[in-house]
Amino acid sequence: MKTQQCFSCGAPQGMLHFEGRAETLCVKGLERRVDDLSGWECLMCGEVELDTSCSDRYTDAGDELVTAARKMIGEEMKRIRRKLHLSQKEAVALLSGGGHNAFSRYERGEVLPPKALTLLMRLLDRYPHLLADAQALAEETDLRKFRTTVHKEHETLTNH
Ligand SMILES: [Zn+2]
Repeated sequence: MKTQQCFSCGAPQGMLHFEGRAETLCVKGLERRVDDLSGWECLMCGEVELDTSCSDRYTDAGDELVTAARKMIGEEMKRIRRKLHLSQKEAVALLSGGGHNAFSRYERGEVLPPKALTLLMRLLDRYPHLLADAQALAEETDLRKFRTTVHKEHETLTNH
């Protein structure tokens, strides 16, 4: 069996050469299997280095998966936004904040939307009637509606 010293933890003969391994990459629920990988794995510390003959293939598969995931989530954002009858501009103002073109960048798959936004969109997809509540709540976030009462030891906010 081929062994060599681990370049990470230094264990003598810690690294074992492997061949024909399959790895499944998973990004945002999308999976992709990459077959026939070979490389070195350390039995002591778990460090893995793929052989150069297949590391590009592995990296490319990962990149493609990330791109596919961004596109998929982008399509989902677009579908839900249209279902809610919001323009991209309205969606930014009400839901995401950020630059005026934030939503168009999410929908084109250029950027992954923040997790909280994805979750919010999925909630609105499932319960579209909550959009009216969201709109009302967004208008009430103005803190001037709160009066600050200072007590001796602590502060409380009272809603009027
Ligand atoms: Zn090691």
